[in-house]
Formats: sequence, C-alpha cells, structure tokens
Amino acid sequence: MDLGKLIQDRIRDVDDYPKAGVVFKDITPLLADHVAFAGVVDAIVNHHGRGTIDKIVGIEARGFILAAPVAYHFGAGFVPVRKKGKLPAATHEETYDLEYGTETIEIHLDALEPGDRVLIVDDVLATGGTAAATAELVRRGGGEIAGLSVLMELSFLNGRDKLRNLDVHSLVTV
Ligand code: 5GP
Repeated sequence: MDLGKLIQDRIRDVDDYPKAGVVFKDITPLLADHVAFAGVVDAIVNHHGRGTIDKIVGIEARGFILAAPVAYHFGAGFVPVRKKGKLPAATHEETYDLEYGTETIEIHLDALEPGDRVLIVDDVLATGGTAAATAELVRRGGGEIAGLSVLMELSFLNGRDKLRNLDVHSLVTV
C-alpha cells in the first residue's frame, strides 16, 4: 500500500473554509477509512523508536484524534494543548500571531515531568505558528522535544522556518 497516495486521496480540499480564499484540508474522510487511519497511526509510531517517548502532546482539536492512538501504541501518556480557557487547572500559556489577530493556547502546569521526552502530534502544519507555540509550552513545562509529527505539511506556507530547532516529520507534503 502506498500510504502517501492513500492519505492524499482521503484528504478533501474544501474551498472558502473557514473563510473566502482559503482551501481547507479536511481530514474527516481519512479518519473514516480504517485502513488509512491505522496506516497513519502506525507510520507515526514506526518513525520514532518505541520506548523513546514519555508523552504525546496533541494539539486541539484534530491533533487529539491522531495523538491519542499514537500514545496508546507507544505506551506513552497523552497530554492536551488547548485553546485558552478550555483546560480546568492551572496552565502555562503562549500567544502567537495569526493572519488577523492572535491565538492563545495552554498546557497544564503539571502535565509534564521534568525531562519527559515529548512527541508533538497535529494534523496539518501550515504557517507553523501553532506548532512553535506548542513547542514553547512543552519547554516551559520541563519537557524535551523529541519531534513533531504531522499528517500533512503545506510547504508553501513555510512552517518549518518557525521550527528550525525541531525534528519535523510529515507523512505527506503538498
Ligand atoms: P498553523 O499554526 O501552522 O498556521 O496552523 C496549523 C493549525 O491550524 C493546526 O492545528 C491545524 O489543525 C489547523 N489548520 C490550519 N490549516 C488547516 C487545514 O487546511 N486543514 C486542517 N485540517 N487544519 C488546518
């Protein structure tokens, strides 16, 4: 099976979502295909050595869907990074720029143990702002970042430029 081709086939372009002029990569057809979904989870797990990761950090909201089964297969814990105001206990927070305005994301203060080896998982790497802010939250939480795995990288948005000190692993690049 050519996983890259399967991923490309199962990710749907939606024009003008969430606003005019944006072509949104919709991963829901991929998630609904058990072969594609399992293939993606296995590919992320196999890329990193089993036993080398303590925590998987998933980014709200689609990152959670991929990060949770990856954590299960690794035998690692799962830690959510969420938009401001969604986590119940005390948090670290990071604010970053969007095209218009800013976004703030949070991680629980006690989510990571000092020295935890952390893999960050999300669905799509676009401008890199979300991943860079998440990496900063992990560092502030005491974690050591083993890498970032994403399903799809939109290379024309140059997200890697914001992630120069990170091992970025994408299953498909467009
Ligand atoms: P960035 O911060 O890299 O510009 O945007 C990445 C974040 O926004 C990720 O959390 C991702 O889920 C979401 N995102 C941005 N563009 C898309 C897209 O076209 N499709 C999907 N599924 N998510 C996107």
